[in-house]
Amino acid sequence: MITVKDLHKSFGKLNILKGVNIEIAKGEVVVVIGPSGSGKSTFLRCLNLLETPTSGEIKFEGESITDKKHDINLTREKMGMVFQQFNLFPHKTVLENITLAPVKVKKMPQAAAEKIALELLQTVGLADKKDAYPTQLSGGQKQRIAIARALAMQPHVMLFDEPTSALDPEMVGEVLEVMKKLAEGGMTMVIVTHEMGFAREVGDRIIFMDGGQIMEEGTPSQVFSNPQNIRTKDFLSKVL
Ligand code: ATP
Ligand code: MG
Repeated sequence: MITVKDLHKSFGKLNILKGVNIEIAKGEVVVVIGPSGSGKSTFLRCLNLLETPTSGEIKFEGESITDKKHDINLTREKMGMVFQQFNLFPHKTVLENITLAPVKVKKMPQAAAEKIALELLQTVGLADKKDAYPTQLSGGQKQRIAIARALAMQPHVMLFDEPTSALDPEMVGEVLEVMKKLAEGGMTMVIVTHEMGFAREVGDRIIFMDGGQIMEEGTPSQVFSNPQNIRTKDFLSKVL
């Protein structure tokens, strides 16, 4: 579904991504781990061209999205993204937050968008919050709404960049639970996280990044129980 070939990204003279290659299959849950500054967010942001790659190619559903002729807006509609900071629209209700993009971008009729939004609110366990404003929600609730909002566009893949890192510890579980359900439902997901328990349980594949490259990848049991690369071992010894 996603093919990344020799992806490089520099900021000025700083080479951040140094040749990333990966294929992500439909329905696969790929978890990206690695030390701070290793390029995880940059990699994720390149996948939907929030960052413009310096060189290399990214294909999404068979189309080269790095091709200059490609209309990235169409592709972005199919790629949901959830950030550490929830970025909800503060002056809109939960329901309005979720229906906005489907109505404005996809030209979905309001009633249809609301129907989908209410179903998604059920899925994330927040149906009773549809008329609340973001300030009236806890961090965990805001993040679940952010996930529902991304899902409202009916994306083909969901990208998560440390979705639980800004949360108080007691709220991490409820967000991971929603993500786990999504994974079990067959959603293709690329997740940057420091939640190693979740990575091990939910990931189909673990990618360890360091210094702008994929240093090691494998199943959770391969990477967590039997890491081959010295840097993977070193990283895991600090976080496990
Ligand atoms: P963390 O775990 O802390 O989120 P990360 O693995 O996500 O780290 P990135 O955010 O991808 O790392 O950053 C990798 C490097 O690129 C860092 O050294 C960062 O300072 C640099 N960087 C990221 N974005 C920019 C930018 N817009 N301009 C300049 N440098 C940047
Ligand atoms: Mg990051």
